[in-house]
Amino acid sequence: MPELPEVETVANGLRKYVVGKTITKLVVHEHKKFKGTATEIKKFVLKKKIVGVDRKAKWLVVNLNSGYGFVIHLKMTGQLLYTDKQPKFLGGHTMGKEQTTLPNNHTRVEFIFTDGSKLFFQDMRKFGYVELYPAADIEHYFIQKKLGIEPIEPTYTFDYFCTVLQKRKRTSIKAVLLNQQAIAGIGNIYADDICWQARVKPTRRVSTLTRAEQRALYQASHDILREAIKLGGTSFSHYYRVDGKTGSYWNKRKVYDRTGEPCRRCKTIIKKTRCAGRGTHFCPTCQH
Ligand SMILES: [Zn+2]
Repeated sequence: MPELPEVETVANGLRKYVVGKTITKLVVHEHKKFKGTATEIKKFVLKKKIVGVDRKAKWLVVNLNSGYGFVIHLKMTGQLLYTDKQPKFLGGHTMGKEQTTLPNNHTRVEFIFTDGSKLFFQDMRKFGYVELYPAADIEHYFIQKKLGIEPIEPTYTFDYFCTVLQKRKRTSIKAVLLNQQAIAGIGNIYADDICWQARVKPTRRVSTLTRAEQRALYQASHDILREAIKLGGTSFSHYYRVDGKTGSYWNKRKVYDRTGEPCRRCKTIIKKTRCAGRGTHFCPTCQH
């Protein structure tokens, strides 16, 4: 599943390509994956301009100058692909023949702009969605989710991190990192890599963490996400950036999905276990 750095990378791509464009047509290919009525589309979407793109944890928000916006979640396999008249930004989750044309059988929603360029919401496995709401409802939507602070926000302080841990002493550190209401935007790849960076086993009970380990985890959560954003996120499971290019964090990942490979620090073979219900990777030597 795309995590914060991947969604941030998609948001950056959208900001570059679609902000300032006016929507001339919206084609919903899969009605189950779209929320919004025909009247709302006519009144608040058509002939309206995209004025900004926000990211909230793993959600994208595309704001229109009508006071409405789209909330988009990519889930497991969702993508946003942009094409202008030359399909040079075309990318796809499979390299099969059916992906060479758009729209195709994975297209759920299609945005057509006045200049002829298009944005396709593609999803192979149909978990992702596009929802249209008034701005006030979008705000409410995220208040209801009770999301924690993201590691890349200025308000993500060591004090905040300690408070989060204090409330969850009996659980594993990995479970805390994955809990979106504690800290928003970290998924499985980065949770494992953060623990490795901080030299802490993901299975460690929060109550056993020393002050130094807490600080190391706090620092690592910030640094790993920053590094991933800088590298354009991780390309995996056929995940692509909005312009069809791939993110390069995958090649730099610390432990995630490196079972049987040597630790980048001490050369011990990386092991896999299960923690917080997820496949979990760690170095048995330099993580304690
Ligand atoms: Zn190691």
